[in-house]
Amino acid sequence: MTDLKAMLSGGGDILLLPGQLYTGGACRGKMGVLVRKGRYHDIDDAATLVARYPEIEPIHLPDHLLMPGFIDSHTHLTQSFGKSLVFGEPSEIFRRIWVPLESSMDERMVHLSGKLAALECLRGGFTTAVDAGTRSDGCIHALAQAARETGLRTVIGFICNDRGGAANIPERDAILDRARAHLDDWQDDPLIHPSLAISIPEVASDDMLHDVSQMAGQAGAIFQTHVNEHLVAVERSLVARGQRPIEHLAAIGALGPHALLAHSTLITPGELNLLRDSGAAVAYNPVASLWKGNAIAPALQMEALGVRFGLGTDGTRADGFRLMDAGESLQRAGTGLATGDSSCGGGWLWLEAATSRAADCAGLSKVTGAVQEGLAADFLLVDLDRPEFTPSHDLVWELVRYGNRDQIDAVFTEGRLRIWQGWPVDWDARALMAEIRDVADKAIAGAGIQRIHPVSADHKSRCADRDL
Ligand SMILES: [Zn+2]
Repeated sequence: MTDLKAMLSGGGDILLLPGQLYTGGACRGKMGVLVRKGRYHDIDDAATLVARYPEIEPIHLPDHLLMPGFIDSHTHLTQSFGKSLVFGEPSEIFRRIWVPLESSMDERMVHLSGKLAALECLRGGFTTAVDAGTRSDGCIHALAQAARETGLRTVIGFICNDRGGAANIPERDAILDRARAHLDDWQDDPLIHPSLAISIPEVASDDMLHDVSQMAGQAGAIFQTHVNEHLVAVERSLVARGQRPIEHLAAIGALGPHALLAHSTLITPGELNLLRDSGAAVAYNPVASLWKGNAIAPALQMEALGVRFGLGTDGTRADGFRLMDAGESLQRAGTGLATGDSSCGGGWLWLEAATSRAADCAGLSKVTGAVQEGLAADFLLVDLDRPEFTPSHDLVWELVRYGNRDQIDAVFTEGRLRIWQGWPVDWDARALMAEIRDVADKAIAGAGIQRIHPVSADHKSRCADRDL
């Protein structure tokens, strides 16, 4: 295996002959992939490729599946210091935990937090993450640097709130100037893709929501916001304007194919139609809904209507396989059990929602998300020589239900090996973790976080005191 790592680490062209290749919506045997200059240059029958490129020594991987890396269509890379602080908390944790934590972080903290989160993403098989925008003021370059150092492809949202919910709220014109600069800043960066964001509709004026959404769309970037996640937010919108959040966005012209709406869980049939008619996409975040939501996004209904969606973590846990499992499980629990739908997407839907469909929602379908000639070589080598895949009858669905990050041997982005058996190949992750352990407690203590729920040991003793 060490030899294999060395072979995969070599620069130049790589000709890979995996036992299984996930391409075109199916797992196929006897196929090969030539990676050149960071892209899939040629994909064909293994024997044909070997004959076509006699000068390249093929790398035989008979026990591996080569599949596209997962794409996290919604996350927060600068929340990685918070981790279990949010467990058991009532909804709207952003007010009491995330805004204080992120607002208190300086550039160094953003870099450390972003790098830790990026490492977790890559270990979990995510080759791309869509960051919804850090609330730490002026630290986007530190975040981009962290992503670049790890090799994680990242969509970075620039927050354009003009009515709150961020560390610092400049004047409208200054926000728009900075937004324009952000869209221009990363044009030549192979791994960083700009995006504009407003945290939730209520923290921006209608003009700002409209202008920022349009500016992103015209630049070929996505516009991100969080909608219809918590009952209190839906009700605030109704009280303030007589419209639910998605109705509000539609009314002011802020929806469109470039819009990516996180959550959309508390959604009416009328709002589903607004998404369908506008072409807007949804980040379906099943683990986030379990941990802190009020409802489950009706993903199967969205699929039936033709509403685009991809899977996202919302910064909960970075394991692409467990995310697919949660995506399927919540649909079974939410509607499948009651309606007798034992299929709930047939497995394939969740693999697509975690890869090609998530790339589409992220505005990256011409960049990544599939093993396809011309796209960036962002892929995983999954070890199939495991009990969970033996015997194998339906590998696509088995990946959803039996897959786990410890089966991932290699993670590539832009044709380069970044992670081998869970750890980076070209930088010291353990040194990063040691540095974070040194600074995290102090950062958390000084952030002004308000927690409601006790840690589990205190919770247990409270329960014992009450004889519950
Ligand atoms: Zn979020």
